Amino acid sequence: MYRSILVPIDISEASLTRQIIPQVEAHAKTAKVHFLAVIPSVPFYASLGLAYSSEFPDRSGLQSKAAVKLEEIVKQFNIPEGRSQSHVVYGPPKDQILKLADAVEADLIIIASHQPGFSTYLLGSTAAAVVRHANCPVLVVR
Ligand code: ADP
Repeated sequence: MYRSILVPIDISEASLTRQIIPQVEAHAKTAKVHFLAVIPSVPFYASLGLAYSSEFPDRSGLQSKAAVKLEEIVKQFNIPEGRSQSHVVYGPPKDQILKLADAVEADLIIIASHQPGFSTYLLGSTAAAVVRHANCPVLVVR
């Protein structure tokens, strides 16, 4: 039985999130579920077409927008309110996922991975780094 499960969520990838819902619900049972959204600095801004720091949105504004979006996503999971906790942080996703896993003493990380294809040989980069460096079991969902 797991006690602390970390579920990193890429809030820009709805289909990846849908993929893990049944797995998270099946493994959660009595565990505390930590949902994590990481705001990756450069690629995130670039995807919005914002190339220069003067155009960057206000950091805390961005963080609260991401928190609202994460909450909407978390509602799709059937986990009692008291047993789920949401986290939004800045930084490289793989580093932040591993850091929070240690901080919440996760005994399972559940992560979705893109279907393998030409652009993702075996596992995508985030999932692969988490599998390689985590101190606990990692369930990669496809
Ligand atoms: P990629 O090739 O985009 O790294 P992966 O298939 O390796 O894709 O990993 C995707 C998974 O990594 C997501 O389902 C999510 O669990 C996690 N992830 C990726 N980016 C983020 C992010 N910004 N915040 C939280 N989790 C993330």
